[in-house]
Amino acid sequence: MTALLEVEDLRVAYGKIEAVKGISFKVDAGEVVTLIGTNGAGKTTTLRTLSGLLKPVGGQIKFDGKSLKKIPAHQVVSLGLAHSPEGRHIFPRMTIEDNLRLGAFLRSDKQGIEKDIQRAYDLFPILGERRKQAAGTLSGGEQQMLAMGRALMSQPKLLMLDEPSMGLSPIMMQKIMATIAELKSQGTTILLVEQNAQAALSLADHGHVMEVGNIVLSGTGRDLLHDESVRKAYLGED
Ligand code: ATP
Repeated sequence: MTALLEVEDLRVAYGKIEAVKGISFKVDAGEVVTLIGTNGAGKTTTLRTLSGLLKPVGGQIKFDGKSLKKIPAHQVVSLGLAHSPEGRHIFPRMTIEDNLRLGAFLRSDKQGIEKDIQRAYDLFPILGERRKQAAGTLSGGEQQMLAMGRALMSQPKLLMLDEPSMGLSPIMMQKIMATIAELKSQGTTILLVEQNAQAALSLADHGHVMEVGNIVLSGTGRDLLHDESVRKAYLGED
């Protein structure tokens, strides 16, 4: 089986500072793959590069059999890659429903769009209850749900989530993680960036630990969860 996403020796720099120093990993269709690591490890930079927002200085990105190298950001979504960014970036003055519709801006199948809006409300009932309200009135966790719902509206082949648990209460975090597990059970392929290693590794098929621009350890979610160095560095154990 060929991978849905193949990243090979990817290097990304901000001026002279190399933030990603030659990483390789792949994501197969139907998998959840997570990148974990501390602040500044290069996780967000990796996702922004996959979305076409940053240009790599080296390496290859192959998505669904095509090289993404020369594809501009606005076309990446149409290939099936959706990004729910860190910090959410919802449109606070627009209604919740209009924010969701924005995620479908490339689609013209009206019925399908309505069906997917309903699906977002099924996944996140609070969004349905408040569909006509300004998105800025939602709590942080609810805005995270909206950002995920919006990314799903493009019917992505790969959903990239950047720190969906950031700043959330433990209960809200559990809810978000349960939703990721539900999306996975529905067959959605997910690349998940998380600082919460425990939560991310618990539901990921494969994980990669990033440190200062490199992948230093890779394995199944389960193996990494039980790896002694991961437990010490990321799960707060002595
Ligand atoms: P976090 O969880 O804090 O977002 P991260 O693993 O996602 O961490 P990145 O945000 O990708 O890490 O940052 C990787 C490195 O690149 C860091 O050293 C960071 O300071 C640097 N960096 C990020 N954005 C820029 C920028 N716009 N200009 C210069 N350096 C940057």
